Amino acid sequence: LERSELVARLCGILGEENVLNSEEDLYVYGFDAAQGWEMPWVVVRPKNNLDVARVLEFADENVIPVVPRGNGSSLTGAVVPIRGGIMVDMTSMRGIEVKVDDGLVEAEAGATIDEVDKECRRYGFFFPPDPASSEVATVGGAVSEDSGGMRGARYGTVKDWLLAAEVALPGGKLIWFGSPTYKWRGTYDFLSLFCGSEGTLGIITKAVLKIAPLPERIARVLAFFGDLESAAMAVYEIRRRGFNPLLLEFLDGDTLTMVNEAYSLDLPDAEAAVMADFDGPAEAMDRIAGEVSNVLKRSGAFRVDTSTDPEVIERLYAARKGCYSAVTRRYPKVIIEDIVVPLSKLVEAVKTIRKLKEKYRLQIITFGHAGDGNIHPTICLDSDNGEEAERAEKLFYEIAETAIRLGGSVSAEHGIGVQKVGLLKMELARKGCLESLEYMRMVKRIFDPNGIMNPGKLGL
Ligand SMILES: Cc1cc2nc3c(=O)[nH]c(=O)nc-3n(C[C@H](O)[C@H](O)[C@H](O)COP(=O)(O)OP(=O)(O)OC[C@H]3O[C@@H](n4cnc5c(N)ncnc54)[C@H](O)[C@@H]3O)c2cc1C
Repeated sequence: LERSELVARLCGILGEENVLNSEEDLYVYGFDAAQGWEMPWVVVRPKNNLDVARVLEFADENVIPVVPRGNGSSLTGAVVPIRGGIMVDMTSMRGIEVKVDDGLVEAEAGATIDEVDKECRRYGFFFPPDPASSEVATVGGAVSEDSGGMRGARYGTVKDWLLAAEVALPGGKLIWFGSPTYKWRGTYDFLSLFCGSEGTLGIITKAVLKIAPLPERIARVLAFFGDLESAAMAVYEIRRRGFNPLLLEFLDGDTLTMVNEAYSLDLPDAEAAVMADFDGPAEAMDRIAGEVSNVLKRSGAFRVDTSTDPEVIERLYAARKGCYSAVTRRYPKVIIEDIVVPLSKLVEAVKTIRKLKEKYRLQIITFGHAGDGNIHPTICLDSDNGEEAERAEKLFYEIAETAIRLGGSVSAEHGIGVQKVGLLKMELARKGCLESLEYMRMVKRIFDPNGIMNPGKLGL
């Protein structure tokens, strides 16, 4: 189809007001939060599930690439339309309905995680997975990336909360996978196939998600250390002592400095910090905070702050959520990794990364979800090209290799997109399971025989 005909046909399906094709609009849709390459040929903004199905029927008939999009906060290029095609912006579909007695929330794909969480809080509940980008991350994006967040230490990732989803398939069929109940057995687990599929199988229009009751009270503990190893060891010690933290985060000294500056906090200079939350009945919180504080001091912390004041807790939470933004403000180019290692290898991972920093003479700041072994070493560059960029590329691979060597993985929650296809192949090859990519291609052909869904992503 000529581009003008493509636009005219889509205007006929969705109405002119829901189709964008000016150069300015297309340019904006050529990026995610980390990178950009190509512009889509046209952007559509469906208003409901039937609109989405009609777009997929048309695209499949004409074998046109389709890229579903939430708010474009992917960090791996997953939403960048590298083969052009139709960009399906899902953010007009944002209905949310909490069903307290069923212990769940139904949300359309374009609602943000914060909107879902806020709606649950009106009923005394919350939605546990909390990607640092929750203000913009949509339900469709978070399901498609199987996103995690700071509360992952206790609550895992989106897949642990996903009960069912309505999906539009190439060809225009709308189908539900899973069941809006806490337990269910039946077909193969198609729902899990879609969770983490990065838009390569179909478009999620609605999800049914479990919710959890709000804790009565939270205590936050923030401990500062003079060396990285002690901080990483403290993470083990918290677990060993039988505490079950709600979140357990790690920040190295340079991250701390940047966050301190960016959010005007009054944090001390330190080589590392550990932030942990604990929940429980109000009367128990001071005791728990005190006990954890003693454990951290014995592990080498030179200062431990504790608080049960929701305002203080929120301020620190927002600052930790803002780590990536604080770094991008300071450096023109950053490359964020998303490695995960077995919990017992965290200290070794952190130590190796520090050695790599010296070997490659590049700044790496490291923060992340220490409670689940997932850290984000972030390579900071002054420019996007030249010798420094070449060194950074090698370092990017060597950090990922470190994770694989320690029995971990190259991605925990940000996904593969295009940025980590090479890393994924390296991991699969080292683990002797490269042919899982071939199984993925076979599965994709079942749902998407013409290969229109987000082509070029996830190594497909
Ligand atoms: C500052 C910052 C902090 C972040 N912190 C975290 C974090 O703590 N944890 C974490 O896991 N991630 C994090 N991310 C990454 C990102 O925000 C998440 O992956 C997020 O869930 C993506 O949501 P989105 O709506 O922006 O999706 P998009 O970026 O628009 O899309 C992501 C992928 O999902 C697909 N997709 C989108 N909607 C649909 C749909 N309805 N149906 C099918 N496929 C769809 C897209 O095609 C693409 O492949 C962070 C990003 C930034 C910029």
